[in-house]
Amino acid sequence: MQKLILIKYGELTTKKGNRNQFINKLNENIKNLIDAKIVKKRDRMYIIANDIDFVSKQLQKIFGIHGIVIANKVNTNIDDIKDGVLEVLKNEKFKTFKVETKRANKNFSIKSMDFNNLIGSLVLQNFDCKVDVHNPEITVHIEIREDTYIYLNELKGSGGYPVGIQGKGILMLSGGIDSPVAGYLALKRGIDIDCLYFDSPPHTSLEAKNKVIKLVSILNTYSGNIRLLIVPFTKLQEQIYKKVPSEYNITILRRMMYRIATNISKKYKVVINGESIGQVASQTLTSINVINSVTNFPIIRPVACLDKLEIIDISKKIGTYEISILPFEDCCTIFVPKHPVINPKLEKCLEYENFNYQELIDECINNIEVITNFNNNYSDLL
Ligand code: ATP
Ligand code: MG
Repeated sequence: MQKLILIKYGELTTKKGNRNQFINKLNENIKNLIDAKIVKKRDRMYIIANDIDFVSKQLQKIFGIHGIVIANKVNTNIDDIKDGVLEVLKNEKFKTFKVETKRANKNFSIKSMDFNNLIGSLVLQNFDCKVDVHNPEITVHIEIREDTYIYLNELKGSGGYPVGIQGKGILMLSGGIDSPVAGYLALKRGIDIDCLYFDSPPHTSLEAKNKVIKLVSILNTYSGNIRLLIVPFTKLQEQIYKKVPSEYNITILRRMMYRIATNISKKYKVVINGESIGQVASQTLTSINVINSVTNFPIIRPVACLDKLEIIDISKKIGTYEISILPFEDCCTIFVPKHPVINPKLEKCLEYENFNYQELIDECINNIEVITNFNNNYSDLL
């Protein structure tokens, strides 16, 4: 009897036309993260690995997987299946059970219901237990295919689509709580990302930058292929504080960020950020409107309609929270005006942007620093 992992696909089972593309992408993503042999089939993937428990935990972080099962493979004949079931149950403690047979291989002559009864009787003869079809402590799953797979529990996968299936987006990543969660949710829908961080030394510290590097390395464990782009933002930011009345500082600052994010590369299909409606003055709907009007490039805000507590819950679950709450300031939290405008006017923005910002934007874009290779976890950084 061979132990292996059986993967059930996520939402991609509904996307008939793109099935091969989905399966190939998922296969590629698993290969990049996991050292194992992968056999891909139309409706399942089989993974043969040395450390099955460890690998099945890794698989739980890969998007496009609905369920993960540690299965025992036997030959498709009655005696081998019977032996297999007894072997699988031998160390289990249970008082109630049921059998669920799925007969994908119609050459196997016994119908599923009859086979449930046959195996059910075998279990009753060998263990002190009862059948309970409604609420059993244990369900014995038997999938009869070319080979037969016997398993008890199914681990939940992360769902979503394989990362990269939608192409690449650029995530505006600050060191806060919201933007890493936005990045995670984008990855979940199959968008591979690069991250864009606006760095304003010496007003922002090296620790703040290291925080972002660490956050990217965590996001990268969710089967992405992420790079970090660091924009030297100091000069432009200083000009804004010099030239723009303080209540409009943040509005104009964010318009500049949007201009840079939407202009850096043709290969990105979307900009993603961590804005949440109403959270701060620059995230009222009026502010978002005025800020967004610098571009018609698509911008998505995965956490726009979540409460802060809901965002925090996700950030704890995905492992970014502890890093995000470290107290190093990012460029949006330095020089915050006492009374940032809540209902900014577009005409005012245009009036205040009467300085040579395009030159400074070009300088930002031309001097972006790129960090690749996030395979290690940067645990020594913070
Ligand atoms: P977060 O918790 O994600 O930092 P926030 O609540 O602090 O968000 P803001 O500082 O207003 O909110 O920023 C809103 C969004 O703008 C962030 O979620 C992020 O997508 C983007 N952003 C802010 N600062 C930066 C930065 N220095 N570099 C890149 N993106 C940024
Ligand atoms: Mg922030």
